[in-house]
Amino acid sequence: MKTYKLGVVGDPINHSLSPKIHNLFAKRANIKIEYEPYHVLTSNLDSFIRDFFDDGGSGLNVTLPHKIDCLNSVDDFSPIVKKIGAANTLTRLSDTNQIFADSTDGMGLIKGLMEANINEIKSDILILGAGGAAQSIIHDLQTRFPRVIAIANRTKEKVKPVVSRFPPLDYDNLHPNTQVVDIETYLNERDSQGFRTLINATSAKEELDFKWCESLPIKGVTNFYDLSYSKLGETTPFVNWAKNQDIGAKGKIVRDGFGMLIHQAALSFEIWTGIKPDTKITKAELFDE
Ligand code: NDP
Repeated sequence: MKTYKLGVVGDPINHSLSPKIHNLFAKRANIKIEYEPYHVLTSNLDSFIRDFFDDGGSGLNVTLPHKIDCLNSVDDFSPIVKKIGAANTLTRLSDTNQIFADSTDGMGLIKGLMEANINEIKSDILILGAGGAAQSIIHDLQTRFPRVIAIANRTKEKVKPVVSRFPPLDYDNLHPNTQVVDIETYLNERDSQGFRTLINATSAKEELDFKWCESLPIKGVTNFYDLSYSKLGETTPFVNWAKNQDIGAKGKIVRDGFGMLIHQAALSFEIWTGIKPDTKITKAELFDE
């Protein structure tokens, strides 16, 4: 039986849950993998990636801070990577031997939302944060045709360059032409309808960091999704804040990003092995006491 040589590269890397997740996938799919965490500094990234694939590597996950720099070491990339300028999944293509870069974060989020029963993402969406994670999810959210995706960030100047990366998608007349705008533009629009879905893509560490959102039109928010995730038995600051919001909305859903984490990993696994893994993984299976 073939053994897939796989791994994840980052700095730091010892916190990564990816080795455990992929080993669970492989066990359940009854295939053999060797999935290692690699601690690599930016100065060594290019030679590391080339050596990894020359030594028989099939696939490599890329995490912080290398998601942008890894593109210097690849031969080709997917349209999403071209748009967002970052990747989390590198693959050695068997037919051409080229190293190919893809990003599974956005689709991982979409699957995480669906799993949390957040199916209705056609209404206006607010994303908090304008860093790498925010940029990696906007394109896939756009393909779900919400009316507007608004972005709010602590450092306001960082939002406009992000917005300009995501012009409206020219699909067809059946769908609204999703606009990506900064929060000020949204608030100044006369027809702003208020948000139904609020996504936290910041790395804010305190519940108080979300207090200012209470002045935004979030009264109708029913879906709160945090890209950050907590350990077993703990809660993220955003989830704590969201749970405390008495917004009068019925059927409030509040989730952290554990589902997204599993799904973005599953999509990488499928790219490398052709197998859709069983994604029913609990926090108890991944976090040690
Ligand atoms: P970046 O460093 O690229 O961006 C961080 C963002 O958080 C910036 O917008 C920054 O604002 C904002 N921020 C940081 N501290 C605060 C604060 N105290 N108050 C308000 N805003 C703040 O990080 P990433 O975008 O890569 O990651 C963001 C989060 O998403 C991380 O927690 C990461 O773990 C999570 N993530 C989860 C994934 C999953 O699979 N579940 C996948 C990828 C990421 P400013 O510009 O003002 O500094």
